[in-house]
Parts: sequence; C-alpha cells; structure tokens
Amino acid sequence: MSSVTETNSDDLTAAAVSWDLEPLLDDQPSVDSLIDQADAIADVLAQRRGEIAALDAEGLASFMHDMAALHELIGRAGSYAQLRFTVNMLDHEIASTMQRVAERSTAIATKLIFFGLEWAEAPQDHVDAVLADDRLSFARHHLRSIRRFREHLLTEPEERILTEKTVSGSSAWSRLFQEQTSAVVLELTEPDGSTRSAPLEVGLTRLQHSDRAVRQAAAAAVTAGLAPGLATRAFIFNTLLNDKSIDDRLRRYPTWISERNLENEASDESVQALVSAVERRYDIPQRWYRLKAKILGLPVIADYDRMASIAETDAQIGWHEATGIVLDSYASFSSELADIVKRFYDESWIDAPVRTGKQPGAFCAYTVPSHHPYLLLNWTSSPRDVSTLAHELGHGLHAYLAREQGVFHQGTPLTLAETASVFGETVTNNRLLAMLDDPNEKLALLASILEDSIATVFRQTAMNRFEHAVHTARRDAGELSVDQFGEMWAETQHAMLGDAVEITDGYRTWWSYIPHFISTPGYVYAYAYGQLLALSVYWRYEEGGEAFVPSYLQLLRAGGSMPPEELGKIVDCDLADPGFWDGGLDIIEAQLRAAEQAATAAGRG
Ligand SMILES: [Zn+2]
Repeated sequence: MSSVTETNSDDLTAAAVSWDLEPLLDDQPSVDSLIDQADAIADVLAQRRGEIAALDAEGLASFMHDMAALHELIGRAGSYAQLRFTVNMLDHEIASTMQRVAERSTAIATKLIFFGLEWAEAPQDHVDAVLADDRLSFARHHLRSIRRFREHLLTEPEERILTEKTVSGSSAWSRLFQEQTSAVVLELTEPDGSTRSAPLEVGLTRLQHSDRAVRQAAAAAVTAGLAPGLATRAFIFNTLLNDKSIDDRLRRYPTWISERNLENEASDESVQALVSAVERRYDIPQRWYRLKAKILGLPVIADYDRMASIAETDAQIGWHEATGIVLDSYASFSSELADIVKRFYDESWIDAPVRTGKQPGAFCAYTVPSHHPYLLLNWTSSPRDVSTLAHELGHGLHAYLAREQGVFHQGTPLTLAETASVFGETVTNNRLLAMLDDPNEKLALLASILEDSIATVFRQTAMNRFEHAVHTARRDAGELSVDQFGEMWAETQHAMLGDAVEITDGYRTWWSYIPHFISTPGYVYAYAYGQLLALSVYWRYEEGGEAFVPSYLQLLRAGGSMPPEELGKIVDCDLADPGFWDGGLDIIEAQLRAAEQAATAAGRG
C-alpha cells in the first residue's frame, strides 16, 4: 500500500484522533485520592446536620463552596473513570475502577442527604432573605430549584410510606412491563424464505430496509410478536395510569403533566404553546411522506414504510476536510466559538475512531468547570458524521462557555440541553448542503435531517397527545380496554399523518412496547421541546444576523443559572408564546422545500 493511500485511509477512519484524559487527575496519583479528599470534606460538612435551615447567608455560602469543591473532586474522578471505560469496555480493571468510583461516590452522597431535606424545610421568608445575598449567586438557582417540589410534598411519615410502597407498587409494575417486552420474540422471514427467532429490536431495525417486501414482513412479525401478552401489558398500563392519578390527587397537581413540567422546570403554558404550535403544522410531516411515497414509487406509504432508507449514495468526507467544514461553519457565526472549536481539535479533547470495545454512538461529557469537556465519536466519514461532529461540538461549546457558572449552574435543564448542539448542527448542515452538487447526495442528507426532525418534534408530540388521551380517559372513564388504547393510538397518529400514511390494523398495538409511557409518564415531549427550542433560536439568528450573536453567546454562558423561560429572555424569546415555536417549524419547512427541490432535480420527485 502506498503511503498516500495510508494517509488517506487514516484520514477516513480518524485513526490518530484520541483524547487525553490524564489532565483530569492533574497532580493526583489516582482516582481514589480524589475520592478520599471528597470523603474528608463530606465528613466535615456532615457536622452541620440539623443547622441547615437556620444558616445565614455567610454560613450557607461557605457550606455551598465546600460542597462545590466536593462535587469538583467527585466529578473529576467520575469523569476520568467513566470516560476511560467508554473506550475500553472490555477491560476488567477499568470496569472495576469505574464501579468502585460509583460506589464510593454514592456513599459520599448518602452522608449529605440531610442537606436537601433540611433546606426544603426552611421557611420561605428566611430562604428569600438569604438568597438575596450576592455571595450566594453561584448557587442561587440551584438552591431555589431543589425546593420546587415543596408544595407537593406530603408529611414525612406519608412520604416514607409512599416511598417504601413504590417497590411493591409502581416500580414492580414497571419492571413487569420491561420483562414482558424484553421477552417478545419475533419470527422473522429471511430473504431466502427461512425463518428465525429474533428480539423485537431486530424487527424494528428492519423497517429501514430499502426493499418493501422485507419491511412488510418485518412489520407483520412485530405485530404478531406483540400479540401475546397484550392484555397483560394493557392491564399494567391501566394500573400505572391509575397509580399516577392517585399520586397527582394526593400531591395536588392540577393536571397529569404538571409534575413532569415542574421536573423539567417548564411552565404549563410553555408546554401547551409548544404542543399547539406543532399540532398546527402537522402538514409538514404529511408533505414529507407524500414526497417519500413518490421517491419510493408508491401511491401512498404505509406506517411500516416511514423509516425506509432512500439513500442512493455513499459519499465520504475525511476527518481533515470534515473538521475544516465544521470549523468554518462555527467561524461564520462567531470567531470566539471557532477558537474554542480549534482547542477541541488541537488539544486532544476528542476520541474519534471506531474501535473494538468502544461505546457506540456519540456524546459530549461536560466533566467539571475547572476542566474542559470531551467528545466521543464513532467516525465513519459519512456526511451524517459531519453533522454529528458539529452537534457534539455544540454541546462542548455550551459546556465550555458555561464553566464560569461553576458546578451548580454549568448544566442546563433537559429542555435547554440541545440549544447549542442543534444550532451548530443546523449551521453546518446548511454549509454541507451548499457544498454538495449531486442532487442525490443532497436529498440523502436532507432526508436524514428531516426524518430526525419529524421523529423528534412531530412524532414525540403525537405521542404526547396519546399520553394525554389515555391519562385523561383513565381519570374520566375508568379502566381502558386494549381496543380503546389502540383506538387512541391510531387517532393521535392519524392526526399527525393524515391521509399521507396508511395506518394498518396491525399498527394499532404498537403503543404497547414503548417504555417511556410506563416508566416516565409525560417524558416524551421533552425531546420535541429541546429540538424545537434550538431551531426557534436559530430562526432568530437567521432573522437578526450578526446582531443576534452576542446575546446568543450570553445565553450559552448562562448555562443553567436560571429557569428555561428566563434564559429564553436573554435572546428575546418568549417560550409561552406559540409564535415563538413557529420559528423552528419554519426552519423545518424550509428544509422540506429544499428536499422537494432536490428530489425534482434528481428526477425522483
Ligand atoms: Zn444532543
């Protein structure tokens, strides 16, 4: 093999791009010495037990500074142990170190449980007076937000009974559901006509196959596989719907979703604004699926065709070129961000290649404010990987800029976690699209962008409408039948898909394997909220241009130091206004128009 080819293949696999975790240990000989120091701080802090609710501003500030130091130490040790594990998952010594760090960290956290409980007990006027002091600004929002469930707490003996009973109540039902779905077995027909047994996941993945007959057979196998135990899973769901309605009544939550909104620090109004804005634009997925039918050569697609791959290209972009594209994209937006992106490349903050024993997928690890974030990728040189690099770098930039908020406010609430990632990904996608001249390559990239948006924004909203329907019906009309679940599932899916997608009879039971409905009621809308918030902020940038940039950087710097709606105000966005969410929906519609044009140009529309 010539040296030119070698360079080229190394560039396609990003073979030399690995991270350096050693700086996390700094001058310490091992993770254990970091944990030892944290443990010593915990013992000193534990001596304040019984005093928390009465601490004055100075006392509380000093307590919180020590607590921050402790979190830094645990965070360094935990990040080091965990990140080392993600790239060496087969190494026993590394795995056991990670386990030891996790166990020791839990033991330390247990010593400090009293703090949250005592702080929640403090009278409101005392809390207001203490938190008005600027010496506590580094922990103010954190301290407020750990008290946010206060109004909904019961007396201590009641709480204790509820907690103890969870083990034999909702958790047990949840586990039974998990066991039932993981036991689902499909009889899959292979292309050569033979059949084999496979788990549910294999059947669902086959829905991406380009051959319709394969998709049809996979869908039939999923439906058949879901049939046994359907009545049992419906009973579990009924029981948990009822359990939640009892909890909500006892804890005085006005609606089935209120507790989840409080958890997400999102107001009921902003969630309602999101849902109604998305529902008004259900024509977007319908238009896409009509185009997809043409591309696939069908009069109309069925539910099992939605995931079908339409890629007719295998374009590759090497690491060197890709990092250049992403850097230029960030530079077109802000030179300050581009300088930080360079540090990720130059200072070994990224681990890129695919390796045996490495965790699949991609993520950004925030680590701790005194350090810097790391990115894990599994680089295969597809155009999609370039978007992923831009996405994870967005998380990295957000983490990096929010370091100055300190350990309590660096991370954002879930609903704002995608602000920088989806933004950076969108800037980069636009650049990438401008570079591709083959309409088929353009169409493939646009299809993957759109299908991501549809899955995240529209599908999760439709699932939220399903949850709304079943929670409300269970409260109003009592136990629901398998048919009623199926009816509400088909209705809420039909509302989103209209006549653009045929919903088959078999599909009516496909609600019955989705774990979120069971284990974390109300969770699914957070995906739509995060993605659409980021796109709506991006829309502001398209409107405002350069002038928007400083306020956007200020938003990133603010990290999680305020509730989401106040953070939105930094970039002049009102999250409780449905009009705000329309901005993001306009961005998705523009991507749809581009896909329609590319399909026409490729002779496939
Ligand atoms: Zn992300």
